[in-house]
Amino acid sequence: MAIRRIIVYPDPVLLSQAQAVAKITRRVRRLARDMLETMYAAPGVGLAAPQVGARQRVIVVDAGEGPITLVNPQIKAAEGKQIGLEGCLSLPDLVGEVRRSAWVVVSGLDLGGKPITVEGEGLLARAFQHEVDHLDGILFVVRVQDPACVWRTDELKASVQKEVVHI
Ligand code: ZN
Repeated sequence: MAIRRIIVYPDPVLLSQAQAVAKITRRVRRLARDMLETMYAAPGVGLAAPQVGARQRVIVVDAGEGPITLVNPQIKAAEGKQIGLEGCLSLPDLVGEVRRSAWVVVSGLDLGGKPITVEGEGLLARAFQHEVDHLDGILFVVRVQDPACVWRTDELKASVQKEVVHI
């Protein structure tokens, strides 16, 4: 496994559509393992393949309940609303108040190629939505409803900075 370099805005890979994975090869499995290691080292609660420069539909998430890897993830159901501070490893200087669904169901493939469905609420739901957005070239700042609700990280009090999750 290896820690990969996290791509930061304005690299165009972050703004482009990632491709569906046609076959889960050794290379895809290595990418996913490296993404997990990179996410934990950052630290962050999620990472999408474009954030390490790979235009492929692969995400990893760990919101405190253990690692989840999904290939070709799709949000199948979403309910409720949550509003909270969100940061992104690819936009390290910004934090925004982002409205997301409170609960989602995501399906995709595991690294063995088996279909899996995962349900998440709270932070896990937020992380899934943030990562699937990355696969479509969407950054969280686009989801902030009021431009006044985006701050520079260094403008926030240390106590607030600690609460911000980077995804
Ligand atoms: Zn992000």
